Amino acid sequence: MHVDLHLHTTASDGVLTPTQLVTLAGQRGMKIIAVTDHDTTNGLAEAYETAKAFPELNIIPGIELSTDIPGNEVHILGYFIDQSDSDFQAKLAEFRESRVGRGKRMVELLNEMGMSVKWERVQELAQGAVGRPHVAQALLEGGYISEIKEAFDKYIGRNGPAYAERYKMGPAEAVGFIKSFNGVAVMAHPFDVINNLDSVLDQLQGAGLVGMEVHYQGYSTDLVAQLAGIAKRRGLIPCGGSDYHGMGSRMEIGVGEVDVPIESAQQLAGLAGKAPFRV
Ligand code: AMP
Ligand code: ZN
Ligand code: FE
Ligand code: FE
Repeated sequence: MHVDLHLHTTASDGVLTPTQLVTLAGQRGMKIIAVTDHDTTNGLAEAYETAKAFPELNIIPGIELSTDIPGNEVHILGYFIDQSDSDFQAKLAEFRESRVGRGKRMVELLNEMGMSVKWERVQELAQGAVGRPHVAQALLEGGYISEIKEAFDKYIGRNGPAYAERYKMGPAEAVGFIKSFNGVAVMAHPFDVINNLDSVLDQLQGAGLVGMEVHYQGYSTDLVAQLAGIAKRRGLIPCGGSDYHGMGSRMEIGVGEVDVPIESAQQLAGLAGKAPFRV
C-alpha cells in the first residue's frame, strides 16, 4: 500500500479535506500519492502543506478532466502540470463555471419532476468544484433516494431524465491540453469504454497519451491482467489508484488500497522531466 495515483478531496467531489486525505495516507506509510480533483488544483496547496509532517510521503500534482465521446465519457488524468500557469487555470475556471450552470439546470429538472431539492443546498455541499455527487447528496437528504448510486441510476446518470450537459473537451483535446502545460496524460478507468478501448486508445496515443489505469477499485484480477497486457503491448505506463471519494454507497475501496507499482510513478515523473522520487 505505497502508491495511489487517483484521489479526490473536498476541492471537488471527495469528502476528505486535503489535510484529512494526506494525513490518512501519511499515517498509512504511503510513499507517493496524486491528488486528482475534477477541474481544479485548489486542493494542492493544503495537501503540500500537510505533507510536510510526513517526510516519506510524496505528492504528485494532478487533475482529472471529463471528456465526451458519443454515448459515453472518457476521463483523462493529468500529472505534473505546471499549476501556476494562468492559461491552464483560466481553462479550469471555465470548466468549473460550466459545472455551475448545468448543476442549476439539473436541480430545475428535478424540481419539475416534483423533488424539492434546492440549488443553495447543493452549493453548500460543494465546497469546491460542484458535481453530480453533490446533487445526489441533496436528493439523499431530501429522502428522494436511499443511496447515492440511486440518484445516478434513476435521475442524473448520463441518460437519466434530470441529466444536463456541460462544456467538456474531446478526449484527444484533453490529452493535448495537459501536454501543452508540460503534464503527462493517463486514461482513467478504461473499463468504462472497454468495447471501444482500442479505437479510443489509438486516438489518445496519437495525441500523446503516456499511460492507462490498470489497477483500479473493483477491477478483478482477470481484468487487471487483461488491461496490463493492453498497456504493455501499446507501450503505456500501467497506472491506477483507488479513485477514493468517500461518498459511501458505492462499494468503495479506501485510500491506498489499490496498490500501484512504484515504478509506474517513477516513469511518469521521468516523462514529465522530473527527478525520480526518493523512496
Ligand atoms: P460530474 O463530474 O459532475 O459529471 O460527476 C461525475 C462523478 O460522479 C464521478 O466522478 C463519480 O464521482 C460520481 N459518479 C458517477 N457515476 C456514479 C454512480 N453510478 N454512482 C455513484 N457515483 C457516481
Ligand atoms: Zn468524482
Ligand atoms: Fe473519473
Ligand atoms: Fe476520479
